[in-house]
This record gives sequence, structure tokens and C-alpha cells, in this order.
Amino acid sequence: MARHIQPSCRLCRREGAKLFLKGSRCVTDKCAMSRRDYAPGQHGQIRKKESNYGLQMREKQKVKRIYGVLERQFRHYFQIAERSKEVTGIMLLQLLERRLDNIIFRINLASSRAEARQLVQHGRVYVNGKRVDIPSYTAKLGEEISVKASEKFTKALKERFEILKDRALPKWLEVDGQSLKAKVTAMPTKEDVGFPIQEQLIVELYSK
Ligand code: SF4
Repeated sequence: MARHIQPSCRLCRREGAKLFLKGSRCVTDKCAMSRRDYAPGQHGQIRKKESNYGLQMREKQKVKRIYGVLERQFRHYFQIAERSKEVTGIMLLQLLERRLDNIIFRINLASSRAEARQLVQHGRVYVNGKRVDIPSYTAKLGEEISVKASEKFTKALKERFEILKDRALPKWLEVDGQSLKAKVTAMPTKEDVGFPIQEQLIVELYSK
């Protein structure tokens, strides 16, 4: 599967925001954004006024990077959102939130989406009892997501769930941390993203 190969912290610095791509490191003093909160590269510290197009582009890149999605797939999500009866920007965020790797991250079984993606790819995640190893799988209303692993790994996952328990669990998922299960009980809303996103800018960019 194609993926970003740039160092994660560089992506945050480029977007000028903490995108939380590196799990627990992101909440420590080691976070690159707390030490060098300017864009990477030779001219990174030069402040320039972004054009309207620049703002739209940056917002799109930011969302892509948060969810670890590449351009082609992101555009595909946009096309689905555009065809839906819902508001395009909201539907786009909803589709991203319902990705299987994102759900594993949201229910605190992984400290980052990259780690969650690995868990899915390694065949540990089941949807309604059937193994699904596609991180981009879009979970549907009523589906039950569970994680099955060896006794040792299950214990490690439960411990991780405990460590990450301060992270708020999403309201649209019914989570049972002890059985490593979650059920989709509603559709995610913009508030569930938990990150300031101006999805309208992305819609404007792709509608040109
Ligand atoms: Fe971004 Fe900081 Fe995490 Fe690096 S450590 S990925 S800069 S939030």
C-alpha cells in the first residue's frame, strides 16, 4: 500500500499544527512542533501571506495527513461525498472517520493511526466476526469491530487501552475496552473529528 514516506514531524511543521502522527511522543517535550514551530527547509522561517488557493491547498493537505490518506484516495472520498445527499464537506469527514484504521485509533487500541493501520494489515481486526485487513474499509452503521490476537498480544492491547484511557472515546461508537470491541451506533459528526478543520476550503478547492 502506498503511504507517506516523509518524516511525520516534518508534515506537522509544514502544516503549522500538531497533527499527532507519532503517538505518545506527540504529547511530550520531544514534539518537534514545541521546539521548531516553523515550516521545514531553508526558507521555513520566512512568513508569507497565503493566497486563497494556498489556504485551500494547506487545509486539504492537513486533513490528508491527519488520516494518512494519499491524494488519489482522498479525491475518491471527495467524489463519493459530492454524490451523496449530505453536505459534501461533512460527508467527506464522515467517510474519513469511518475508516477502519481510524476506528482502531479512536477506540484507544493504538497510539497513532499508523500503528492502527498496522494492526489492521496484520489481520487482527474483525468486522462482524469476519477478518478485514483493509485499513481503508468504511465501517457501516450497526457493524461490530473487534480485535482478536494471541493471549499475550490481547493483554498488551488491554494495557494500551488503559494507558490511553484519558483520551476521550467517540460518542458514535459503543466501546467495550475489556473485550476489545466497538459498535458503530451513529454516524460521526464534525465535532467528533476533534480537530479544527475548515472542510469548506477543501470543497472549494476541488470544485474549481
Ligand atoms: Fe507532529 Fe509533534 Fe507528533 Fe512530531 S511529535 S508528529 S511534530 S505532533
